[in-house]
Amino acid sequence: MMMNLEKKKSVPEMYGSLVFNDAVMRERLPKDIYKAVHKTIENGTHLELDVANTVATAMKEWAIEHGATHFTHWFQPMTGLTAEKHDGFLSPEPDGSVIMEFSGKELVRGEPDASSFPSGGLRATFEARGYTAWDPSSPAFIKDGSLYIPTAFCSYTGEALDKKTPLLRSMEALSREAVRLLRMLGDEDVIRVTTTIGSEQEYFLIDKDLYRRRKDLLFTGRTLIGAPASKGQEMEDHYFGVLKPKVSAYMHDLEEELWKLGVPAKTKHNEVAPSQHELAPVFETANVAVDHNQLTMEVMKKVADRHNYACLLHEKPFEGINGSGKHNNWSMMTNTGINLLDPGKHPAQNTRFLVFLIAVITAVDEYADLLRLSVATAGNDHRLGANEAPPAVISMFVGEELADVLESIEKNTSYEDHIKVKMGMGAPVLPHITKDTTDRNRTSPFAFTGNKFEFRMPGSSISVANANIVLNTAVAEAIRQISEAISDVPAGEVDRALHAKLREMLIDHKRVLFNGNGYTDEWIEEAARRGLDNLKSVPDCMPRWISDKSIDLFTRHGIFTKEEIWSRYEILLENYVKTIHIESLTMQEMVRKDFIAGLVAYMKELSSEAGEKRNILPGAKCALEQTTLGTLDEAAGEILEKLDKLEKDTAQAEASEDLLESASLYQSCVLADMEALRAVVDEAEKLIPDEFLPYPTYGKILFSLR
Ligand code: ADP
Ligand code: MG
Repeated sequence: MMMNLEKKKSVPEMYGSLVFNDAVMRERLPKDIYKAVHKTIENGTHLELDVANTVATAMKEWAIEHGATHFTHWFQPMTGLTAEKHDGFLSPEPDGSVIMEFSGKELVRGEPDASSFPSGGLRATFEARGYTAWDPSSPAFIKDGSLYIPTAFCSYTGEALDKKTPLLRSMEALSREAVRLLRMLGDEDVIRVTTTIGSEQEYFLIDKDLYRRRKDLLFTGRTLIGAPASKGQEMEDHYFGVLKPKVSAYMHDLEEELWKLGVPAKTKHNEVAPSQHELAPVFETANVAVDHNQLTMEVMKKVADRHNYACLLHEKPFEGINGSGKHNNWSMMTNTGINLLDPGKHPAQNTRFLVFLIAVITAVDEYADLLRLSVATAGNDHRLGANEAPPAVISMFVGEELADVLESIEKNTSYEDHIKVKMGMGAPVLPHITKDTTDRNRTSPFAFTGNKFEFRMPGSSISVANANIVLNTAVAEAIRQISEAISDVPAGEVDRALHAKLREMLIDHKRVLFNGNGYTDEWIEEAARRGLDNLKSVPDCMPRWISDKSIDLFTRHGIFTKEEIWSRYEILLENYVKTIHIESLTMQEMVRKDFIAGLVAYMKELSSEAGEKRNILPGAKCALEQTTLGTLDEAAGEILEKLDKLEKDTAQAEASEDLLESASLYQSCVLADMEALRAVVDEAEKLIPDEFLPYPTYGKILFSLR
């Protein structure tokens, strides 16, 4: 046997080895070019063509040294996935040889034929051209023999057709407003504020062969039928449990692939449900974090395949046990290295913290519907409010200590007796709050966790771009309102005006603060009394997206034009409608063809069994066979009836001309039919031996990992 003598690379050697990162640029680019690129990254300025040409050449040489033969503009269209089209570096010469070429123009801009991406009517099909534009703030990398260049994607007429463009715009808006306010608060050094994100990714790993034998998992990502296994997650023995050796090998492989791509994967553990796991990276600048999360999901699936697993990223792959989410940890960081949501060690800095904290509270309450909407998908609707994930009602947890501080501002009283609450620039308004004094709340959709907020509603399969676009923009707006309140005030009056504004904001928005258990029915009732929205499904949410208030917000800050908002409305609804349509067809096929075949075969077996028994033993009662047959026969009748209703309702929902109405029909009729059909099928499944079922059961799937 050949011995592998190659020494395994250490993590620092491996990390970022396939990334055209800052270190590589510094090493390979002439000093002035390196500086020019940096300026572009930091200030978002235009890159001159000669600079782009030099960068392209350096990139190409580096990529070829690392085995790349192609390059691709990598973008994030509205499908929620990533897209890529590969072009070779090669360029034939007259003498029959080839040289390898890559120009600045090819680096900076691409022109993919983009007519088949969702555009919500923005790009008429006769104008098929779309543009991709290099995002130099997210580093290029090599994967599968291609140089990947992160890009934004827009139409010929300049409208955003992707998730990255508005994300970058929202980061810019937040930075602009935050810098303006910080200047007014006396901070002269800050020129930029970036939003930071760490997204914890949950996923299921199941056996690949079992996965392939289920049409529902293959076509829709979730199981549409299936009786619960006798054991679920009730023993609470999986969360943080010992990693099984094969699963551990998978995780290790996954981490190595991610590290090479410069994705800072840091934490891994078993999650609550059997076969469920989590990976968390170290936080990064928002657009890079979003790119890296997309890459993480892709690599998770690819590595799973190699290990004979299927990686499920759906929000609710199995009924009756927890679904998967993607916690979005979010904060704001100045270019001078200050986390604006860090309460800090020095009380003198706490005014700034309070100002930004109250801005976030205002934003989340004022635009709760848009935040809810930013994570609304057919898949996530099964998760939110289902007693495992946060409810569909948005509330915020800030911990008792901060709640007391906020109350003292609102009531104009002093906080505790050891410190006087006296608002003002640089005045000591907060005692030193160490990170650990804020207790943990696991049931809040939007929780303060020491120096950042954790938004827990995003589903596991979606891009977190949308959630952060809404969050950044809403916070930018709240900050703008604070700035407005103090902008025209005479110097001596600023303290008073600021305090008054913060107080007013707290009074208006404190209803969103809730420190209790968000999973209880009492809270849902209390939330209704407070006037908080409870938007349960995609069709419930969508009208808010095109409301005047939403259009005002996004156009004011230059995030979306009215046309872009409408196009996204159509795309989201279409996606919802198509998803449930496919689920309905898949379920009909599985029940009609596969399940019924199993049912009939078992019924036949039972009756011939009874017949044989009576041959040998005339007068045998055959109670077991007869009772089971009777139950199954009754179920068969019900199944046919319910299938019929599902088929009719699906056709009716599909026929509706109005998208929102169609979506509502899919939600209220088709999904309800599917649930009713499932209930009967699952009851019958419990009586049918495994060998008669044409697909693997929950028990087999969930407890198959070694
Ligand atoms: P949890 O207890 O929720 O698992 P962790 O402390 O493990 O929380 O952190 C969760 C995530 O929050 C990590 O991805 C981490 O990098 C991220 N995070 C930490 N600080 C910030 C910050 N300032 N901005 C954004 N994300 C952050
Ligand atoms: Mg968390």
